Amino acid sequence: MKCRCGKRAVFHSKVYRVTLCEDCYSKFYVNLVKRSVKRYGILKSSEKILACVSGGKDSTAMAYALKELGYNFELFHVDLGIDDYSKESLKAVEELSQVLDVNLNVVKLSDYGFTIKDANRRKVCSACGIAKRYLMNRFARERGFDVVSTAHTSEDIILFFIKNVLSGNVEYVAKLRPRIEGHDRLVAKAKPLFERTEKENAVLVLSLNLPFTPVECPFAPQDVWKEIIYDIELRKRGFKQNFVRGIAKLSESVETESWEFKHCKICGEVSNDEVCSFCKLRLKR
Ligand SMILES: [Zn+2]
Ligand SMILES: [Zn+2]
Repeated sequence: MKCRCGKRAVFHSKVYRVTLCEDCYSKFYVNLVKRSVKRYGILKSSEKILACVSGGKDSTAMAYALKELGYNFELFHVDLGIDDYSKESLKAVEELSQVLDVNLNVVKLSDYGFTIKDANRRKVCSACGIAKRYLMNRFARERGFDVVSTAHTSEDIILFFIKNVLSGNVEYVAKLRPRIEGHDRLVAKAKPLFERTEKENAVLVLSLNLPFTPVECPFAPQDVWKEIIYDIELRKRGFKQNFVRGIAKLSESVETESWEFKHCKICGEVSNDEVCSFCKLRLKR
């Protein structure tokens, strides 16, 4: 298969009805991100952005797109202290920082007196999420960033949506807004890749040979819902894209004004409880 420019194609999509080579694909990809950002007001050109990178393909793709679109941003990485996985991840984000010529900030969980492995094994993934969300928000606010940008893909959004609907937490759909404005001690949050799929991100980083680690976190569980989402897409082309757009619309209809925010009595950060989840994690070990 050949691209419209005549070169060998690396990407073919029935959803977008395109067949593209490496060069044309990266331009096409960046343009898709640009379109989402504009349509949903996800980022502003005047903002100082903290881009959270894990070393994986998705956040690498996000950093590349932010660079190409000329945003003012720095990279942020949490070293979770999970053996080889964390070493490989750190290596990848360091390389990415060099390739893109963007400053990298690294926060080590061990500086807070614990590693993710100290958490109860079954709770490792939720502990990881708690730690990352806490640290990125606090770092961004303390260093004067306007917004935190994360590389959640359409699969992540759909997965979170299904799980929360199933557990009855329907109002949590508000957390899936492509952009959540800052409030209290919480910095604004942006998801510029919410309409992108993991495959689109993978094709970008592979075709441009961008640094990323294919090593998966050893604690990450196989998620059957993720497989189900893939199966639906196979039978209904465009499902993911249409579904995340629906979720984005729905997320705006949830009223969040009355959501109450407490403050952690230990660290002072915004919390659902007397003591925040991060401090609980940190002190309970
Ligand atoms: Zn081409
Ligand atoms: Zn706290």
